[in-house]
Amino acid sequence: MGSLTVFTQVVDFLAKKKVTLVAVSKTQSNQAIIERYDLGQRIFGENRVQELLTKYDTLPKDILWHQIGHLQTNKVKFIAPFVSLIHAGDRLHLLQKINSEAHKVGRIIDVLIQAKVAQEDTKHGFSPHELVDKMLLSEIAALPYIRICGLMGMASFTSNKEQVRQEMKTLRDLFTDIQNSNLFGDSFDTLSMGMSGDYKIAIEEGSTMVRVGSLIF
Ligand SMILES: *Cc1c(COP(=O)(O)O)cnc(C)c1O
Repeated sequence: MGSLTVFTQVVDFLAKKKVTLVAVSKTQSNQAIIERYDLGQRIFGENRVQELLTKYDTLPKDILWHQIGHLQTNKVKFIAPFVSLIHAGDRLHLLQKINSEAHKVGRIIDVLIQAKVAQEDTKHGFSPHELVDKMLLSEIAALPYIRICGLMGMASFTSNKEQVRQEMKTLRDLFTDIQNSNLFGDSFDTLSMGMSGDYKIAIEEGSTMVRVGSLIF
């Protein structure tokens, strides 16, 4: 089956589930992106800032660019003028930096807090323990130039589906608890979880936004 056929099937499936697709276009050519753009896709995700900047410069301006990967503080200024959503808000210092760069360019930038729920210690993010710390969450909520729109997380890279599901449940429970705390108000409505290998489990566990790359390109 051609990758555009798979893309269309995934788009239809997600539309039925009312789940937002971030088409993860890292390492993909402009042509491959445009083919999906022409089929209606507007949200694309990149994990490297330099690649994101090149694509931003050369592709249609109505694309909504999501920064999905780990972000160095010294790179925030390059994407602050245009980025649509930063998924990897994985440490307080980075959130403060996004806040100050947003102020400089006169924007309020949408950000997700990245939670670390995977067993592997290679994944970035706030620990579940930190995410029940009301002091920390209040400090984040007080940053005026970022809007915290929800949580992002990644399950372990494993074939153990039950482990993946359990980690996603943990993430969903954290999301629900923070949402109920009302610290971030109504804009806290996005749970970014699920990739090519596990997006169906993620949706069963309450994901509202999936980041899918290899499957649809
Ligand atoms: C690459 C990447 C994805 C997409 O992974 P696929 O397995 O290609 O779907 C999702 N999220 C992040 C943070 C990534 O870096």
